[in-house]
Amino acid sequence: MADRLLLASIHDVSPRFESEVDRLLDLLRPLLGDRLAMLVVPNHWGDAPIVPGSPFAARLRGWADAGIDIFVHGYFHRDEKRHRRSADRLRARYLTASEGEFLGLSRVEAGRRIRNGRDLVEQVTGRPVAGFVAPAWLYGRGSTAALADCGVGIAEDHFHVWSPSRAGARLAAGPVITWASRCRPRLISSLAAAGLLRHAPWKVLRVGVHPPDCGSPALMRSIERTLRSALRSRRALRYSDLLEASA
Ligand SMILES: [Zn+2]
Repeated sequence: MADRLLLASIHDVSPRFESEVDRLLDLLRPLLGDRLAMLVVPNHWGDAPIVPGSPFAARLRGWADAGIDIFVHGYFHRDEKRHRRSADRLRARYLTASEGEFLGLSRVEAGRRIRNGRDLVEQVTGRPVAGFVAPAWLYGRGSTAALADCGVGIAEDHFHVWSPSRAGARLAAGPVITWASRCRPRLISSLAAAGLLRHAPWKVLRVGVHPPDCGSPALMRSIERTLRSALRSRRALRYSDLLEASA
């Protein structure tokens, strides 16, 4: 049992979604303790900044002090750019409802946003961040290079967890279970996918939850069932434990 692992994360942690994040923590913490990750958006959509000294900043520091892994998750989260390549444009529009901020950024701009976000979050928490995860797990060539430039410890996409600061060393491979709440057909298919994937044979199973998940009781039940089912055969771990174990 000890061989198989579970990594869980709460996405889009921002003052904008404070009450939703609380509800997700209430669901996850009784099952996982503090062995989870929070993905923090420094300034969601440009109008929900995390302000040092604010009550939300104090809460963020408290979560970090408790031992939760804190990741930087984009800077604004929203994709402000028009992508030149039509394939990227399609991916950005249809896969993510235009939340793929880092898909079209240049190496320089991606590096600037990663550093700015990291500086802000580390100022607030008083400790190093665990890593960086791009919104919607979408990285372009520029942002992939910028992860290494910035010495990011841990990054992940839909299928992998890797360490840019260790020459891209792979830390885990396997799917991430996530739910879609935007429209009913996608919600139903994501419930079905979670039901199958929670039994997946991969060594590391990842679960990622989002603030809008709170809007659907069926979805919240699916998250709980998925975690309980996974924990029967898996040990919950922090992403940072994975990095230490691979050192
Ligand atoms: Zn996100």
